[in-house]
Amino acid sequence: MASSIVLFGPPGAGKGTQAGNIVAITGKPQISTGDMLRAALAAGTTLGMEAKGYMEAGQLVPDDVIIGLIEERLTQSDANEGVLFDGFPRTIAQAEALSHIAELSVVIAIEVPDSRIVERICGRYTCGGCGAVYHDTFNPTASPGECDDCGHTEMKRRADDNEDTVLTRLSAYHSQTAPLADWYKERNLFVAINGDQDIEKVGAAISSVL
Ligand code: ADP
Ligand code: ADP
Ligand code: ZN
Repeated sequence: MASSIVLFGPPGAGKGTQAGNIVAITGKPQISTGDMLRAALAAGTTLGMEAKGYMEAGQLVPDDVIIGLIEERLTQSDANEGVLFDGFPRTIAQAEALSHIAELSVVIAIEVPDSRIVERICGRYTCGGCGAVYHDTFNPTASPGECDDCGHTEMKRRADDNEDTVLTRLSAYHSQTAPLADWYKERNLFVAINGDQDIEKVGAAISSVL
């Protein structure tokens, strides 16, 4: 398999926002474990039922569930030339499993201070048609309630995008996910991007890495 890219960062860092650009530049498909889990939940599959309680509480879904999901996804033919992992891996165990199934060229870490995370998450909404990501203050649709990209008029907010759950997600990030930064630095794969600047500037910084 050709090499893959990991998009890394705390909840609300801007991973989903930047993913489209990276897909456009590299041609690699985006694999978002959060999106896959939400789709499983909406479809009422066994996987969705298993993940539900963890997601609602803002806790990480168990590693074996996530690793199984990724292994299955990587068997699809669009993954042959490498992929863009968004929101995976989130634990050392996931990173170790990944190292046996895919080759990485770079881990792009979008760094945003904790003090910005709650406002980012609590203002987030997405297009129900195409999944484009918006923000009440920082990135609103041009005309209220209508997607700039596809014209769809149903906007969605995630149940876990509330202040209580965000704080749990952030503490899970610090205790379980942040240690991956050193793990990837030791392997010379880690590139940090300042995520505390305009969306366009973050995008330009990522493009220059690619
Ligand atoms: P993640 O996928 O890392 O959880 P998102 O891409 O969904 O993050 O972004 C979280 C929220 O912050 C969204 O509402 C998005 O519009 C907004 N956002 C993303 N990048 C920036 C930025 N550079 N500045 C301000 N707001 C941003
Ligand atoms: P965020 O915007 O916080 O980055 P995601 O959409 O990536 O959120 O993930 C939403 C929820 O799905 C997480 O809080 C967690 O419960 C679960 N989840 C997603 N990816 C993973 C993963 N790689 N490992 C464990 N749990 C995950
Ligand atoms: Zn749309």
